[in-house]
Amino acid sequence: MLRPVLSQLKPYVAGKGFGEISRKYGIAPEAIVKLGSNENPYGPSPRVAQALATISPERYPEPEELIAGLAAYTGFPEEMIIIGAGMDGVMDTLTRLFLEKGDRTFIPTPTFSYYEILTITAGATPFFSPRGPEFETVANVPTDIKMSFLCSPNNPTGNVTPEDDVCALLESTDGIVFLDEAYVEFAEKSLIRLVERYDNLIVGRTLSKAFGLAGMRLGYAVAPPWIADQYKRAAPPFYGISCASVAAGVAALADLPFMRESVKKIISERRRLQREINSHPSQANFLYLDTQLASHEFVEKFLARGIIIRDCRSFFGAGEHHARVTVGTPSENDRFLSAFREICK
Ligand code: PMP
Repeated sequence: MLRPVLSQLKPYVAGKGFGEISRKYGIAPEAIVKLGSNENPYGPSPRVAQALATISPERYPEPEELIAGLAAYTGFPEEMIIIGAGMDGVMDTLTRLFLEKGDRTFIPTPTFSYYEILTITAGATPFFSPRGPEFETVANVPTDIKMSFLCSPNNPTGNVTPEDDVCALLESTDGIVFLDEAYVEFAEKSLIRLVERYDNLIVGRTLSKAFGLAGMRLGYAVAPPWIADQYKRAAPPFYGISCASVAAGVAALADLPFMRESVKKIISERRRLQREINSHPSQANFLYLDTQLASHEFVEKFLARGIIIRDCRSFFGAGEHHARVTVGTPSENDRFLSAFREICK
């Protein structure tokens, strides 16, 4: 029999894809601009394609070189690096370490919706804490919370949580704090060093965004040794990664100048777009905007023009009047802007 908790869940809503929009509106996939999934339009370092040409798909993956690359990139010892199939995979395994039926998790909203799905599938209950007017976290963590999920820069609002607030949160709870830094390479500052100071902090990262490897499904986290040690017990064999993702990750981490250059271009375009559309300030590779029309009607007008942006209604607590647009290449952003001017005139 199916577990009763399933009735509390809606499937995760991802940004729309080329195929769906092409079929629905009769637009050739090459003519579609995809700004709905916070991907990196510059893709990964060219070294990734070379590395992929040399893999041995008949062998199981060997993740050691990838873990060494992540240790060098983050400046933490290998014993504190955990990996998985995307940061989603890392979080999935972590919730198996910490959450049981009846537990509660703390989730400042609106935010990335997978935290809620993980909570509910574990048989736990989310405690949603609405963010303030500038999307800052406001409430204290209730005493019985087992795990808090804090996203910074936050998806979909783009703001960061200041260090003092993160420390206050860490000190106010005995539970685990998962700080999601999926977008941190686009931000001014990472708080990853706090893992040295707090035994209840895990910082999640991914190669999907700044490193341009979303399709490879490669995520990681830095965790205190007492957690990293236990991670292997609940992780799937080979952590759910593949020899392709290992090869791609190792090659991408060996070419940091490529990643930094694409981040620089995205930040400069983010500034231009933000000025033009007057969206909320953002430290990520996307912008959050208020829509006068209902967000689904607003977004629909872009989709019909072959421009995919995100209706934020699927983010709990975002309401009916917000959209999110990923920063693309200058020409993609121009396409978005000319549609924006037409739609908002
Ligand atoms: N955290 C946040 C805030 C995200 O937006 C995403 C991607 N949508 C993830 C985690 C998951 O990233 P990955 O591709 O590494 O699973």
